[in-house]
Amino acid sequence: MGFSTDAIHAGQEPDPTTGAITTPIFATSTYVLPALGKTKGYDYARTINPTRAALEKNLATLEGGAAGYCFASGMAAISAVMTLLRAGDHVVASDKVYGGTYRLFERVLRDYGLDFTWTDTSDLAGVERALRPSTRMLYVETPTNPVLTLTDLRAAAALSRRRKLILAVDNTFMSPFFQKPLALGADVVVHSTTKFLNGHSDSLGGVVVLRGKAHAARIQFVQNAAGAILSPFDAWLVLRGIKTLAVRMARHEENGRAVAAWLAKHPKVRGVNYPGLPTHPQRALARRQMSGFGAMISFDLGSYAKAKRFLDRLRLCSLAESLGGVETLISHPATMTHGSIPPADRKKLGITDGLVRISVGIEDAKDLIADLAGALRAL
Ligand code: PLP
Repeated sequence: MGFSTDAIHAGQEPDPTTGAITTPIFATSTYVLPALGKTKGYDYARTINPTRAALEKNLATLEGGAAGYCFASGMAAISAVMTLLRAGDHVVASDKVYGGTYRLFERVLRDYGLDFTWTDTSDLAGVERALRPSTRMLYVETPTNPVLTLTDLRAAAALSRRRKLILAVDNTFMSPFFQKPLALGADVVVHSTTKFLNGHSDSLGGVVVLRGKAHAARIQFVQNAAGAILSPFDAWLVLRGIKTLAVRMARHEENGRAVAAWLAKHPKVRGVNYPGLPTHPQRALARRQMSGFGAMISFDLGSYAKAKRFLDRLRLCSLAESLGGVETLISHPATMTHGSIPPADRKKLGITDGLVRISVGIEDAKDLIADLAGALRAL
């Protein structure tokens, strides 16, 4: 089936008792057993819930995986991925990941005996140099948050196969509509469903999609054992959001291209980061491994004071953490999403005090550009 058909139908059959076309929200904590020792396939809702199961099947189909498991947030999903490792294991990770991922790895998981090396995963020779005999995982976010650097997923997968590493990819920025890491050779895909998948800024969630059955069994076990599951209501919201994923992503990208091109020509804006711009150093790679450039853009206004003046003057674009909603969200990574990264490290990663990130929504592009233009006039 085509992507849009799967987005609307995969994992979802009309309700067998009523014919309801939408998957019901199964708000139940337990299921009555027909007899001792027998179930209808359901026993307890932490273990299995039909609304969540429909979403998990849907997402596994869209990412081309063997199975998917949904969690209460993107961070809960990433935490579950890390349970594929054991104390003493070493991970090589993209140095420009979401700040919350950095915080989880450095300030929580290190205390449990995992070790991390942060490196620019767009340089695979550097990744090779960072490997140790104890390295078990290559953890990649591509494009990275917030400076939009890409990692070559085919090459990263070849390296991971050669060195027997698990390749885990955070695909939140692109969604499976624009990028399919499993098809490019990754073992594990993780998403914050909070973002483009749900798309309406009204639910928090995460998913892990696995290529192979062995990793799938472990993540399913951990989902039940640790219990950080997605609620049936949130599962329903994400199912509903995904039905329009294809049309939303196409419009997000159309607006993303228009806003990026406009910003790139503005005299008060420096260094616009967007994989679709001819100035992006990895545009050819973007074309090879993504079917579109997405709607995430970052750019530099030169200083914190200028960024603040600009952000405080916007009227339509909302100053907020998060991304991927239908409404345009704008943020200041150094003090918001990436505030947990030490200032010296932020500087090395290009997360300057003047950097602004936009998640371009699906409003009318001309209105977004008028709002940005008005705020830039104040500088
Ligand atoms: N991965 C990326 C790329 C993100 O941007 C975020 C949140 O912004 C997360 C993971 C974490 O997701 P959540 O906020 O749903 O826990």
